[in-house]
Amino acid sequence: VNIDFKAAFRNTRSADLQPRAVRSVNEDDLRTAIHQGNISVVYQPKIECHGGKLTGFEALARWEHPEKGLIPPDLFIGMAEAQGLIDSLTILVFEQALPWFNQFLQQIAGYHNLPTSNDLHLSVNISARSLLNAELFEHIHELCSNNGLDSHQIMLELTETGAMDDPVASLDMLTRLRMRGFHLSIDDFGTGFSSMVQLVRMPFSEVKIDKSFVMTAHTSRESRLVIKAIIELAHSLGLQATAEGIEDMQTLQFLQELNCDHAQGYMLGRPAQGDTFIDWLQQRHQ
Ligand code: C2E
Ligand code: CA
Ligand code: CA
Ligand code: CA
Repeated sequence: VNIDFKAAFRNTRSADLQPRAVRSVNEDDLRTAIHQGNISVVYQPKIECHGGKLTGFEALARWEHPEKGLIPPDLFIGMAEAQGLIDSLTILVFEQALPWFNQFLQQIAGYHNLPTSNDLHLSVNISARSLLNAELFEHIHELCSNNGLDSHQIMLELTETGAMDDPVASLDMLTRLRMRGFHLSIDDFGTGFSSMVQLVRMPFSEVKIDKSFVMTAHTSRESRLVIKAIIELAHSLGLQATAEGIEDMQTLQFLQELNCDHAQGYMLGRPAQGDTFIDWLQQRHQ
């Protein structure tokens, strides 16, 4: 019997509090925040498109600003990259996400009829420019083993545009990461150039269809055609397809008809604090 995680997570309280108007966040504030560890991580469930089973979580960074409140990543990831702070931020995300994920796996192992740790993975966003930093991945690998996790339980999500900056060096690092066991996902697929070329040449396990297509699927025939083409392309190359940004039932059904593998979106579960999911497990099975 599959527990229906779709229904389960739909009502989890979102950690995405409406951020107060953020007029100016600056580099010095960000540097301080990263040095002081004022970055928190929220998790969005990832679900099997057909049965509704939980397949994993995506870790998403939030900046906890003392005056301005919770700052969304679109306002600081680019700045972190430009300021050379992105690798420190990535480490902060792993330092929080790995112990949480390990705790979740230990909790879930105690229940029947729920996915086991072998069926679940943690996805973490990686800036493509970090691919040139071999030490970062040594560190990440070490953090995984320190937290009782194996690299095959981790999926690294890379954005397509960035991965093209230095294709030779990127391919080299991606191959090494894959050989070490990490799964690789190409994020925001469909928004950059030469997507197909990269898919063929690089050792990805998953293609993530950009939410700009998914969120317009119900109104735009073009979006539906793009989604269909990406899923077919992914499958013909032996990769899994994940759709993000699913906000309504109609879109989920459309994706099911196309045999999309995994689904993420507000309708299935909003990003929420780690405790939310641990509490949910405990309450669900008391
Ligand atoms: P992304 O990796 O494409 O993540 C998906 C974004 O869509 C997340 O926004 C998520 O909260 C949002 N989302 C999920 N489902 C829905 C939905 O149904 N409707 C709508 N409207 N939105 C949905 P978020 O958390 O604000 O992150 C934005 C971007 O920031 C991410 O896009 C990712 O590229 C980047 N990011 C987040 N955390 C990190 C990180 O730790 N490192 C790096 N390098 N980038 C990060
Ligand atoms: Ca992502
Ligand atoms: Ca994405
Ligand atoms: Ca994105």
